[in-house]
Amino acid sequence: MRILLISDHADPLAEIGSREAGGQNIYVHNLSYFLSRLGVSVDVYTRWDNKNKSEVVKVNEHYRVIRVKAGPKRYIPRDNFLELVDEFADNIMQRIRNKKMNYSIIFSNYWFSAKIALKIEKKLKLPIVHLYHSIGKIRYETLKKLGLLKNNHLVFQERMKTELEIAMNCARIISTSPVEKKIIENIFNIDPDKICVIPIGVDIDLFHPIKNKSLIKIDDRIDAATFNKCILYVGRFERRKGIGTLLFAFNEILRKHPSSILIIIGGGKGKDQKEMEAEELQHYCRIVDELNIKEKVKFLGPKKQKSLIRYYNIADVVVVPSYYEPFGIVPLEAMACGTPVVASNTGGLKYTVKNGVTGLLALPRNYKDLADKILKVLDKNKNCYSDNCLKRIENKFTWKIISKDIIKLFDTIAKK
Ligand code: UDP
Repeated sequence: MRILLISDHADPLAEIGSREAGGQNIYVHNLSYFLSRLGVSVDVYTRWDNKNKSEVVKVNEHYRVIRVKAGPKRYIPRDNFLELVDEFADNIMQRIRNKKMNYSIIFSNYWFSAKIALKIEKKLKLPIVHLYHSIGKIRYETLKKLGLLKNNHLVFQERMKTELEIAMNCARIISTSPVEKKIIENIFNIDPDKICVIPIGVDIDLFHPIKNKSLIKIDDRIDAATFNKCILYVGRFERRKGIGTLLFAFNEILRKHPSSILIIIGGGKGKDQKEMEAEELQHYCRIVDELNIKEKVKFLGPKKQKSLIRYYNIADVVVVPSYYEPFGIVPLEAMACGTPVVASNTGGLKYTVKNGVTGLLALPRNYKDLADKILKVLDKNKNCYSDNCLKRIENKFTWKIISKDIIKLFDTIAKK
């Protein structure tokens, strides 16, 4: 079986922390890698966004990343992708013809890829499997609620139209949680049998408990002797991620645990990303100043994924305070290290974090409830949750399990 995977903006080999790179990049890379280990061939087509990157990277015998020319070979914000879709689709087709490639399935990720998939499917006549990653209608409503809608109504209209079109025309939709499945069913009014719930996974070779925590080395800016409780946030700086709410919650926690620390890892690298996030960072700094908690909140910037294991291991609790989260890989990484998670009771987080078992769910955008849940987890102690966290990951969220489920799904529809 050979998969034509389209991941328009999310290059699976991009460094996380570089421009808009996040969960989708990690998903596409891990899935392709684990599928390739089971003998399935995967070609990931992604936009060529840097002239210094090679056109083709052969990760191993079965997994290649192919950069496709669409617009200039430099970073372009995702919001400007619509005008590049035709060139992207034409160039994929040209390459497939030139190289006489044969594929069994098109697997599109995110809505621009859906548009590209619908275009090339007309010529290739292959079944499409689609994964939304985020759904336009939900994102639109979330941004509207937060007062963050820019003048992009037309793009949203186009996105919603495309998301309906792919729902109607694809062979299967992968939804990453039962909550998302219900949303997809309701928004697009399609047969529930067309939607398969297969979650995102976590690499347990990269994320696991470290026995001797006292030997863990972390960032020099943090002195382990100065705190007794460590609360950790990992992720991008975006309003919907709820870092502001977490800062207010942390201020409440300090009343009971004055020697606690809040570590914030994430935010972007590079000029463009920093500019994009400057406003957001200023917003957090204002809150930190107002609350007078500067000494206790450590913004460490983005970290390489392989270094995160140390932070997840030293943390007493990982907090995911999103106002909305389609899935959320960070809770899985924390749980794989045996660390409980307090997450907003929304989207995929409702599914990954088992309330009362691997952590607690809190009301989204409610700092008092968030503080209350974090305190409960801190008071109960991390060890009470660790085994449950590890079991939940082993039973449901390893890439080994997930890649096998994806192969089963592909097998039922692949062009033979
Ligand atoms: N991440 C990372 N370094 C950082 C911050 C985040 O490697 O400094 C990774 C993190 O390990 C996770 C991903 O980025 O795998 C974020 O995925 P998630 O689904 O939680 O959020 P998204 O970015 O998709 O909104």
